[in-house]
Amino acid sequence: MAEITRRPSIPVNVGGIFIGGSHPIAVQSMTNTDTADVAATVKQAEALAVAGSELVRLTVNTREAASAVPEIVSRLRDRHITAPIIGDFHYNGHILLRAYPDCARALDKYRINPGNVGMGRQHDDNFRTIIEIANENAKPVRIGVNWGSLDQSLVTRLMDENARSAEPKDSRAVIMEAMVRSAIDSAEMARAYGMREDRIILSAKVSGVQDLIDVYRELARRSMHALHLGLTEAGMGRGGIVASTAALSILLQEGIGDTIRVSLTPAPGGDRTEEVRTCQDVLQSLGIRSFSPRVTACPGCGRTTSTVFQEMADDIQQYLGSRMLVWKQTYPGVENLRIAVMGCVVNGPGESKHANIGISLPGTGEEPKAPVYVDGRLITTLKGSTIVNEFITILDDYVETRFRRS
Ligand code: SF4
Repeated sequence: MAEITRRPSIPVNVGGIFIGGSHPIAVQSMTNTDTADVAATVKQAEALAVAGSELVRLTVNTREAASAVPEIVSRLRDRHITAPIIGDFHYNGHILLRAYPDCARALDKYRINPGNVGMGRQHDDNFRTIIEIANENAKPVRIGVNWGSLDQSLVTRLMDENARSAEPKDSRAVIMEAMVRSAIDSAEMARAYGMREDRIILSAKVSGVQDLIDVYRELARRSMHALHLGLTEAGMGRGGIVASTAALSILLQEGIGDTIRVSLTPAPGGDRTEEVRTCQDVLQSLGIRSFSPRVTACPGCGRTTSTVFQEMADDIQQYLGSRMLVWKQTYPGVENLRIAVMGCVVNGPGESKHANIGISLPGTGEEPKAPVYVDGRLITTLKGSTIVNEFITILDDYVETRFRRS
């Protein structure tokens, strides 16, 4: 794994999963079902958890949603889903958490947006109520600032101060400062209301990559609280994945970020678990954590005029996906397995030798045979139409020998 020096932070126990300190950077996600719909929310939360989401957040926006939470958590636990369940509150969290104490007890953490808890005196009273309920139930909170709902009274105050200063900054710099200040001031306010410092996680999400990098660097410099990292409203498909990956990678490489979420907009009827796999891929690509065996496949070129090697790389990836649930239980460490499927002799043998198991398929015009390398050594050469099946047999044998629990 990569040697990245993590920024020091105070670890927080969220329902048995530790966030921050030297604990692994946790993957999390959020449902997009109506939380009042117990069956649909349980189904999606379970899918997210099975896909690898180590914490799952639910919207708690209405009385119906709040009253559904205990049943949702209970059904998930009955299904052996142990991922901590987090409630996402805006505007009325102080009312719902007080009116539905079973909801307050069932949740493992509350997310509070300081920009959405009321204005002026009401803001402080509502914020205090949520913190007091968290204290009564020994729950941690995430103070989650979002620039789409930034505390406008704070922004106005900082803009006024800036206008009066001898060297005014541009408005972007003032907004970035307001994001950081909102998170840090709210954490201090929570502490003043009795919240333990090891029960506070901070986030300050924006939708621009450079803005996110600037805000989190500053937040990391000025606070010891664990940080939840994510680009908000990242968007759909490839654009959202690339923007999130770009932003998260730079910060993670600097040791900033203790839990991550990738906020993708799924296509209608699309797969919500895509955001979980994206988080895992970001962490695995950076060498920070491993989640599943990696298939290295070359892109192909004029030396691969047939689709054989593309199909084979895809078949092997599919096979690994189908086996991982079982393998993870049976073969500890199998997620570190590296496989190479290469298209021709140019880089095929070399790349295959670097992998645990590698196969170099024949390119156009080459002799129709495929050397297989295991831990850098040529062990056999496959031929004919059964190459994929024979390679999978070698793969199964390797996993059994190398990773079986002793
Ligand atoms: S390994 Fe061979 S087929 Fe693959 S990209 Fe390189 S030259 Fe092309």
